[in-house]
Parts: sequence; C-alpha cells; structure tokens
Amino acid sequence: MTTVNQTLIQRDYKAAMFPFFGDGEIGSWVNGAMVPGHGDRFELIDPAKGQAFLELKDTGTEVVDRAMQAAASGQKVWWGLSAAARGRILWQVGQQVRDHLEQLAMLEAVSAGKPIRDTRVEVLKVAEMFEYYGGWADKIHGDVIPVPSSHLNYTRPEPYGVVTQITPWNAPIFTAGWQLAPALCAGNAAMLKPSEMTPLTSLALGVLAKKAGVPDGVITVLTGLGLTTGVAATTHHLTRKVVFVGSPKTGAAIAAQAAQNIVPCVLELGGKSANIVFEDADIKRAVLGAQAAIFSGAGQSCVAGSRLLVQKSVMDRFLDMLVDGANRIPVGDPMDSATQIGPINNLAQYQSVSAMVKAGCDEGAVLLAGGTRPEGPACANGYFLRPTVLGNVRNDMAIAREEIFGPVVSVIPFEDEEEAVAIANDSKFGLAGAVWTNAVDRAHRVAANVRAGTFWINSYKTINVMSPFGGFGHSGYGRSSGKEGLMEYMQPKSVWTETAAQPPVGVGYAPE
Ligand code: NAD
Repeated sequence: MTTVNQTLIQRDYKAAMFPFFGDGEIGSWVNGAMVPGHGDRFELIDPAKGQAFLELKDTGTEVVDRAMQAAASGQKVWWGLSAAARGRILWQVGQQVRDHLEQLAMLEAVSAGKPIRDTRVEVLKVAEMFEYYGGWADKIHGDVIPVPSSHLNYTRPEPYGVVTQITPWNAPIFTAGWQLAPALCAGNAAMLKPSEMTPLTSLALGVLAKKAGVPDGVITVLTGLGLTTGVAATTHHLTRKVVFVGSPKTGAAIAAQAAQNIVPCVLELGGKSANIVFEDADIKRAVLGAQAAIFSGAGQSCVAGSRLLVQKSVMDRFLDMLVDGANRIPVGDPMDSATQIGPINNLAQYQSVSAMVKAGCDEGAVLLAGGTRPEGPACANGYFLRPTVLGNVRNDMAIAREEIFGPVVSVIPFEDEEEAVAIANDSKFGLAGAVWTNAVDRAHRVAANVRAGTFWINSYKTINVMSPFGGFGHSGYGRSSGKEGLMEYMQPKSVWTETAAQPPVGVGYAPE
C-alpha cells in the first residue's frame, strides 16, 4: 500500500473560509445575508485530523420561519423575471463557480476531507449544472392539447414555490448544485439544508449566487441539525415539495413528515450496487473499473460498486490484481494532490464501517486487503481505512445486503449469467450497477435485466447533469438531473379557454 504523507497544499481553515465569509460569524444564508443561529452549538470536525476547526449554532425554528417567509417573497420576484433573464443569471452562477474553482475545491477538501483532486472535479461539475439548467430556463413550455370540445386547452409548467432540499455529507457541494440549479431553473425558491457536518460549501454557493444576481430569498442555506432545523423546514407550511438525498432510514422519516402537509417528495437514497465481471471481459480494465467503483470517495458514494460479482472461472486471477491494486492506491492527506483516497467523513461512520468489516469476517468472509488504518503520519489521527477487499462473500451476509458506505468491497462468485443477474437483483436497493463483458448481446441483456436506475457497460460511475439519475426500490423514487430532474421541480397547470361564439349550455338557468 502506498500512503501519501507529503502535504503539498497548506491546510488553513481560516484562509479557506475567508473568500466567502470574511471574518464574520458563520450562520445560515437567509434573504441574502448571513444570519447567526439560535439553537444548540455543534462543531465541524476535519476528518483528516479528527479535530474540530469551527463551532456553529443550529439555525432554530424562529430563523427557519423567517427564512421561509423571505423565500416565499423571493420566489415571487424570481418567477416574475423573464425565463431568459433567469437563464442568464443561472449561467452567471456557473461562471462564479468557475471563477472560484480553486477556493471552493479547497474549502470542500479541508472541511469534508475529500481529496483535492476530487473536489476540483466536483466543483467543475457544479458549474456545469448551473450552465446546463441556465440553458433550459427559456425552453420550458407547455402544450396545446387538441381537446374534443370548443376549448383552447393548454398547459403551463409552474414552479411549486418554496422547495426544501435536504442533503448528506458525502458530496456536499455536488449535491447542493445538483438540486439548486434545476429548482431555480423551474422558478422555485430553494430552502437547502445541507448536512450539519459539511455545510460550508453550500453556504459559499449561496454567497456566489447572490454575486451572480440571484435575488435575495431565492436561495436559503440552513446550517443546522436534522431533527430540529431539518424537521422545521420539511414540515413548514410554506414548503411545497421536499427533495431529499441521504439514507433510506431518514428518507422514510422525511417522506412521513412531508405527508403531514400533503407535500410530495423526491428521495435519492442509498444503494448496494452490483458490479458484474464476466470471464470474457477485458480483465485488466475491469480490475481498474472495480477499484474506481468502490474506492473513489473512500466508498462514500451512493452508487459505489460495493458488491463485486466475479465469474468463478476468472476469480483467482481477478482477485490477485484487485488486491494488488487495493494495496497500492495512494491513501492520505486530502490536501495532497497525489492522494486518491482520503478519510471517512466522520467518526460515527468510521466506526460503523469498521464494525461491518468485523461482522463480515465473523460471518465467514475472508479479509484479503485492508481492514486497518494506513501507516504513516498523514493518516495517524483522522478517520482513515485502507481499501478493503472481502472475499468469500455470500449474498445473504449483512456485508452484501446493507450499505457500508466506506472503502469496502464484498466479492461474490457466480457461475453463469442467470446466476449473476439473480444475485444482482436479490437486494432491496436498485440504484446502480455495471457489467464488464466483450459480448455485446450479453451486455445489453444484463443491462435490461438488472433492476437499477443507472447501469454501465464496461464502465462505472460516470454520471452527468444531462442524464436522469435516481433509484428503484429502497434506493428511492423520483429523478434528479436531465429533463426528468427538472420536471420534478414543476407542476403542470391545465388552462381551458372557451372559444365558441355560442357555447353549449350546461346545467344552469340562463339569465334573461
Ligand atoms: P442521513 O440520512 O443521515 O442525513 C441526510 C440529511 O438529512 C442531513 O442533512 C441530516 O441533517 C438530515 N436529516 C436527518 N434527519 C432528518 C429529519 N428527520 N428531517 C429532516 N432532515 C433530517 O444521510 P447521510 O449519512 O448524511 O448520508 C449518507 C447517505 O446518503 C447514504 O445512504 C448514501 O447512499 C446517501 N446518498 C444518496 C445519494 C443519491 O443520489 N441516491 C447521493 C448521496 C448520498
């Protein structure tokens, strides 16, 4: 295993925050200004060091209510602009993100513990999201429907109003941009509550959006805890839709909270995706793909290829190469641009991942690589785990059924195509999957037969804002990205206009 210990970029929390927040107190971004929280105090912890670097206060219900009123007013201003004007402003948000690429990437790296090489890519994707939906803004229109009566009937796609968005800690700025851009494109105001562990880059996006011309109130970023601020936002009477990205357990709770006000949800939840390797695949490419599928982001990715299904005839050869790769991937300081794998985001998650690895071994899995902290000073204090390969896994073990959300792959053997598809589908989740094969007929057959919202052939993890994304089963419902993601933020109104000179008489007494 290679550990990286040469920190190339200075870690300076204050300097990373300064370009966006200056020296002022960081609170919630409400009505175009930073508003201090009123609730309990909590700390932000740098996962690479295991140490607190900032204390924040929970927003509190009173500020949430104020933010909601401001959002409702801001939404009216926003929807009152021409579609083209909204599009131009969204494009400008993309430009602001590009102009602050390095600072945003740095802030994400120091506060979320993600490798700087990854955060640079993710920030660029956020710029793309605003540019893509900026382009959509003046291309959304309704239909004229050839109804059989004398009416002119047409539809108007309209925004919901204020949309509450709750996001997790694994890709903070990515998920913020992913949901803010389509919400605004459709004419909504967004009430975003990022994870209490990683709110800083979402707040920075709020600041940049104002610079780009987004009117006050249109983007709110609530810094706070799920059970207080998150509940207050999702159950507030001005919330008209909830979009949640996070764990299935919280998703179910949030859907129930929203149902109290008859508010619809989009749920983007977890996964246990099957990455299937056939003997006829390009094995070297598949080995590389399998590593990227599970180890990038230290496995903290909803689409992680956490179940690796390998045909028995190539299992030994495949495992040799996979274990060798896992032992060599550079793990270390996120601020080092050579680092490919950083720490797990927080202590609770680190402990949960470690406990699942142990439980897997107790159930009969064989630890082939990883399972321990990497050596070296860079990894001495943070929540680091070596890339972990578990062999001899059966699909009925907990490590094959539950989302681990860490750099841990469970390798499961299969005999033939029928068995591979059956194992892949034997899961409550249905987020993603992949097949590695050189047989074109098999590739498309497997793609059609695996129950998943996203599927790759001889590839893994590529996603883009232009293409729809979402889950089947316990991985959630509704879609993000693409035209489908935009539609989630709009509701059609049907308008009927009578055009007949002498409309047919219905029930009623004609006035004289
Ligand atoms: P989580 O469910 O614990 O928390 C997500 C968010 O919900 C946080 O902001 C939290 O404060 C908030 N929250 C908690 N309880 C709440 C409540 N009752 N009301 C309102 N808000 C509440 O998830 P996490 O641990 O932060 O993230 C990891 C999970 O996210 C994994 O399961 C992962 O698969 C999933 N995820 C899914 C996608 C996707 O697109 N499908 C993308 C990224 C992450």
